[in-house]
Amino acid sequence: MQNTKTDVLVIGAGPSGSVAAAIIKKAGYDVTIVEKLQFPRFVIGESLLPRCMEALEEAGFLNAVKAKGFQEKFGAKFVKDGMICDYFFADQFTKGYSWTWQVPRAEFDLTLATCCEEMGIPLHYETTVTDIKFNGSDSVTTVVDKDGNASTIEAKFIVDGSGYGRVIPKLFNLDKPSSLPGRKALFCHMRDEKRLTVHEPNRITIVTHKPGVWIWVIPFSSGITSVGYVGHPEFFAQYEGNNTEVYDQLIQDEPYLAERFKDAEKIFDTRVLESWSSTTDKFYGEGFVLTGNVTEFLDPIFSSGVTLATVSSQNAAHLVIRKLKGEEINWEKEYMEPVMQGVNTFRTYVNSWYDGTLDKIFFAKKQDEEIKKKICSVLAGYVWDLENPFVKRSSYEVHKLARILDMRQIIDEEAGA
Ligand code: FAD
Repeated sequence: MQNTKTDVLVIGAGPSGSVAAAIIKKAGYDVTIVEKLQFPRFVIGESLLPRCMEALEEAGFLNAVKAKGFQEKFGAKFVKDGMICDYFFADQFTKGYSWTWQVPRAEFDLTLATCCEEMGIPLHYETTVTDIKFNGSDSVTTVVDKDGNASTIEAKFIVDGSGYGRVIPKLFNLDKPSSLPGRKALFCHMRDEKRLTVHEPNRITIVTHKPGVWIWVIPFSSGITSVGYVGHPEFFAQYEGNNTEVYDQLIQDEPYLAERFKDAEKIFDTRVLESWSSTTDKFYGEGFVLTGNVTEFLDPIFSSGVTLATVSSQNAAHLVIRKLKGEEINWEKEYMEPVMQGVNTFRTYVNSWYDGTLDKIFFAKKQDEEIKKKICSVLAGYVWDLENPFVKRSSYEVHKLARILDMRQIIDEEAGA
């Protein structure tokens, strides 16, 4: 790659980088994307939430994604000890999309990245950022291609959408650990011959396996299904054998999955991911903004990753455009606070999932339909709707509801005794 100049350099061609690049390009600015890997590349994060559709729509990606025929997703199903709790996005409190997709990310991310190229954005694959020097908001970034050749990119602004690569936090020592305990995931893609006769494919199923250990089941339109176990590392350490042997034992040990997947063909060797939560104090600085996973990725339980990635980059793109027009931006108020508001709403639900509070709510015998609609909006990713008390006062409302359900159970038990 030649030394070059651009208005905005975007690091990473994941959903966060692509959405930001497209929105800024549509506003008439020069954008360049650099991506460390060659696409299509594997990345986990396959179940989307309806709120991300708004970001994909603004970026101009929806038609290209629709044309791929990915599995449509209409809700989320929670399963525990034979009990089932179904959420349908069409029932949600917040006005917005009532559906989304379940996607093999290699193909999905390539689709978004190709849209960017078709919009005239130069996208350099196999090009890794190794250094950035800031001079005020202007920057000179050094990138290295697959043959080890270095070149520079001068930019007026940088959007860091490098996901787990965390380019700017690592280069400038901004990283700090997340408040969540480290967790581990063991997962695979399998040919799911029995799913159409036994289980509906049009939603994610989340099975509680043991306290603190759960399984995702995410069918794709190709007949392949993604199945992953998530839990604390000590849970997995009890099992002997390599990753595939442990995974096979886990499938056998879960009655809800054993019959469906015991002889299913694996599409690749079982994979492991561990300790993915990380964050920084500030998601912006002079001449740059962090988007997507580089801000804070909490936990996979509510499929929030791609939604937080695309919504943060949608917001960041609007601010970058205003900045390039010469406006003064209050990044703390206009970016950091809204991003953290979404992250913290999800944090309430993630913590309440792992401490068992949500179990009481999801599997309560009597469900209040109005409350269910409000929780459904959170599960659909509408975590910026402050009209929804289960967003605005998420922790208070979730814990109050759990206490009411506890009391109701005691009254019912006494009445039955
Ligand atoms: P990425 O998709 O990771 O893209 C970042 C890109 O930057 C990569 O392509 C990378 O190669 C590139 N890059 C990195 N370093 C450099 C560099 N130095 N120079 C140039 N390029 C670079 N999310 C969901 O929405 N739904 C789910 O069901 C879900 N399940 C998950 C399960 C697990 C076990 C985990 C750990 C996460 C899950 N996630 C899920 C989260 C999801 O993976 C991420 O939130 C999402 O991929 C973030 O998108 P992004 O664009 O920020 O980053």
